Amino acid sequence: MYCDVSLPVPLNQAFTYLLPETLRHRVQTGCRVLAPFGARKLTGVVLRVHHTAPQGGAREILKLIDEEPVLDAGLLKLGAWIADYYCAPLGEVLRSMTPLAGEVRHSKVYSLTDSGRDSARQLFLSDAEDDPALLILKLLDSRPSSASYLIRKVPTAARVLKNLEKKGLVNVEDLDSERDPLRASAARLRVEFLKRPDDAKLPKAERELLSFLELHPGAHNLKQLEGTLKAASTAARALARRGLVRLETESPIYVEPETPSRTLSAHQLSAYQEIESAIVSGTFHAFLVHGVTGSGKTEIYLRAIDACLALGKSALLLVPEIALTPAMAGQFFHRFGDKVAILHSAFHDAERAEQWRRLREGKARVAVGTRSGVFAPLQNLGLIVVDEEHDQSYKQQETPRYHGRDVAVVRARDAGACIILGSATPALESRYNAERGKFRLIELPERIAQRPMPDVTIIDTRQEFLETRKNATFSRSLVDAIGARLKNGEQTMLLLNRRGFSSFVTCRACGHRVECPNCAVTLTFHRRDRRLLCHYCDHAEKVPSVCPNCHSDHIQFVGTGSEKVEEELHQMFPEARIARMDRDTVSGKRHFETILQGFREHNYDILVGTQMIAKGHDIPNVTLVGIVSADVGLGMPDFRAAERTFQLLTQAAGRAGRGDLPGIVLIQTINPEHYAVRFAAAQDYQKFYEKELQFRRVMRYPPFAALANVLIRNENQEQALQWAAEIGRRLNPAPEGLKVLGPAEAPVAKIKSEFRYQLLLKATDRKKLNMVLKDIHRWAAENKWRQGALVIDVDPVSLL
Ligand code: ADP
Ligand code: ZN
Ligand code: ZN
Repeated sequence: MYCDVSLPVPLNQAFTYLLPETLRHRVQTGCRVLAPFGARKLTGVVLRVHHTAPQGGAREILKLIDEEPVLDAGLLKLGAWIADYYCAPLGEVLRSMTPLAGEVRHSKVYSLTDSGRDSARQLFLSDAEDDPALLILKLLDSRPSSASYLIRKVPTAARVLKNLEKKGLVNVEDLDSERDPLRASAARLRVEFLKRPDDAKLPKAERELLSFLELHPGAHNLKQLEGTLKAASTAARALARRGLVRLETESPIYVEPETPSRTLSAHQLSAYQEIESAIVSGTFHAFLVHGVTGSGKTEIYLRAIDACLALGKSALLLVPEIALTPAMAGQFFHRFGDKVAILHSAFHDAERAEQWRRLREGKARVAVGTRSGVFAPLQNLGLIVVDEEHDQSYKQQETPRYHGRDVAVVRARDAGACIILGSATPALESRYNAERGKFRLIELPERIAQRPMPDVTIIDTRQEFLETRKNATFSRSLVDAIGARLKNGEQTMLLLNRRGFSSFVTCRACGHRVECPNCAVTLTFHRRDRRLLCHYCDHAEKVPSVCPNCHSDHIQFVGTGSEKVEEELHQMFPEARIARMDRDTVSGKRHFETILQGFREHNYDILVGTQMIAKGHDIPNVTLVGIVSADVGLGMPDFRAAERTFQLLTQAAGRAGRGDLPGIVLIQTINPEHYAVRFAAAQDYQKFYEKELQFRRVMRYPPFAALANVLIRNENQEQALQWAAEIGRRLNPAPEGLKVLGPAEAPVAKIKSEFRYQLLLKATDRKKLNMVLKDIHRWAAENKWRQGALVIDVDPVSLL
C-alpha cells in the first residue's frame, strides 16, 4: 500500500511513499505523516492512499502523526483552491492550514531529575564545551523544555534525550499536565464553592476560604482573593485536591458584564431578517453589511449566529486581532458560553489544542479567530462573519499569501453557507463586488439610538504655523479640547501612526541620515531606551554623538512619534493619566487587553497610540479623538495610500461619541484638501468610493485589473538584479492582456540584508495572470532558486 503526500517544499507535486505494515490501516487522507525527503524528515499531509507502486520504488513513511485526519475533504479542497489561486505550493498551504503538531498530539516536556541536576552541576565544572548531552542538561537546568525547543538548539537532541532518559537523568512529562489547574498561577485561576467536607476538620485558612466562597456564590479570581484572605492560594489548591472547591484556569478574554437583551433598531431588524432567511434557506449567500461606526453591527452578527445554531449548524467569526477586541470576544462568551471556541494566540499550546479539539468534535459550534481561523475544523458550517472586512491584517504576509476574507467567501460558497462581510469602511473591491451583484449590500446608515455621528474638524497645520510661528505637535484647538475633556472627566484618544520618539536622525551640517545597516530605511529614535531602532529588522544602535559622516556634532531629531507625543502631553497636562499603546509598550498580547481594559475603566484620561487604537473599540466615555497627523500614510508610494488613509481616519473618528455624550474629532494635516481627508472628515464613504473608483479605473488598478507583485530577494545584489532582469526578459514582450511594470528596485530596496527588486503585473484576465505566474514559479524551481528568493503576491494589499 502506498500514499501520496504533500510536503512543504517549493515543488508543486505530491510524493509517493510506501506504508509500513504497522500503519497500513491507520493512515487516512488528511492525516499528517513524517516522511523522509532527501536527507531530511518532513511532515506532510496525506492526499490519497492507493495500491499503485510508483516507478523506481518508494521510501517508507516514518511515522503517523494524527490518528484521525486533521483536514477534512472540504478543507483539503479549500487548500487546493488557495494553492492554485495564490500560486503557492500545496504542501506549504496545507502546512499553514494545520494546527501545530503540539496542538493535536500531546507533546512532551523534558525536565531534570534530581540526579540529572547533580550530574549537570558536576559537568559544568568540566570543559567538554560542545558535548550535546552537556548542552541539553544545561538548557534543562534553566527550565523544563519541549523536545522541539531542544532540537532547535541541539540538532541531535532526540537521540541524546533518549539516552539521558535511560540513565535516569531526565524526566518526560505529558504537556497536558500544563492544563492542570493545580499548577497554574493564582492570577489565572478562578475558584468556586462546591461542598462542605463531611468531617469538619480543616485548617484555619481553608475553613475561612470555604466559608467565604459559600457566602459568595460564583467563581472568584484567586489572585484578587489573596488580597482579602490570607494564604487563599495555597488553601484553594488544598481544597481543590479534596474536591471541595472547583479550580479553573481563567480565559484570557475580558468578559463584559451581562448586557441586557436588546430590541433591534429598525435598520438592524431588516438587516437581520434578510440574513436570517438566507441562513434558513441553507444555500450560499454573501452579504456586505456596510454600517457606519456605532451602527450596531455586532448585534446583527450575534443574532445571525443564534439563528444558525438553532438550525443545528456551526458558525465562524473572523476578527482582525482578538487581543485588540477583547470586548467583542467577551460578548461572544457571554452569549454562547461553552459553545464558543476562541482561537487566541495568547492561549498556550495545550489550550489551543483543546479549543481545536472541541471544534473538531462538535462540542463547540462557534469559532472566533483571526485570519487563520478561516481553517477552523467546523462541521456543518452555516455562517461565516468577517468583521472589519477591509482590515489589512486579513492578508497573510508570508507564503501562502492568502487573503482571509476572500478565502472565507470561497469556503462559504463550497459549504453552501452564508457569509457576512461587515465594515464601516468596506474595501473598495468589496463595495464594487456589491455593486456588481456578487454581494448583497445591506446598509446601516445611522448610529444606534439616534446618536449623532461625531463632529469632525480639519485643522490645517500650515495655517497654524503661520499664525503661531511655532512648529508644535499640538494645535491650539487640540490642546483646548484635551483640556476641556480633562476638566469634564471625559476621555481622549490620540492617534499617531508612528511609534518611537522622532522619525529619524539627521546631520544639520551635511544632511546625512542615520540608516539601518541591514535595510534601506532610516532608524527611528526611541527615547526610553535611548536607542535608534530599525522597524524592519529590529537592529538597534546607540545614538551617535557626532555625525558618522562628517563628524560634526549638529545631530538633529526630526519628526514626531507616539513616544514624543506622550511626553509632550505629560508636560502640558501634568495631572492627566496617560496610557500609550503601540508595539513598544505592548510586548505580550495580553498586554493590549490590560491597557484597553484600564482605559475602558477610566484609569486613564488619554490613550495615545498607533493605528491599533483605531480598531473597533467601543468605549462610551471617549468624546474626543485627535489625529495628530493625517499625513503619514498619504505620502506612501502605494496605490492604496488614499484608501488606507480614508479608512484609518474614518475608523478613528468613529471611536468618538459612542455613548450618551456626543463626540468631536480633530484632524491635523498639511493636506486639508486631499479627498481622503475631506471625505473622512465628512464621514462620506459614498463620495470617497466614487472618487477613488475613478482613479482606479483610469490607472487600471484593482478592482479594474488583477494585480500580482513578483519580488526577487537576494543577499547578493548582483544576483538579485540578474534574476530580476531574467524574469523581466521572459515577460518581454508582455503576454497579451498583461501589463508589466519593472523590474525595478522595491520601494524599500533592502530588508534584513537582502536586496529587493520587483515586477508588478496588471492583468485584465485573471486566468492569464495565473498562468504566467505559475510559469515563473516553475521556471525558478527548475533553476533551483533557493526557497524564499522568489515571492509571488497575488492581490497584494501593499506594494511596499
Ligand atoms: P459597530 O460595530 O457597528 O461600530 P457596535 O456593534 O459596537 O457598533 O455597537 C455600537 C453600540 O451600540 C454598542 O455599545 C452596542 O452595545 C450598542 N447597541 C447595539 N445594538 C443595540 C440595540 N439594538 N439597542 C441598544 N444598544 C445597542
Ligand atoms: Zn554630517
Ligand atoms: Zn533594519
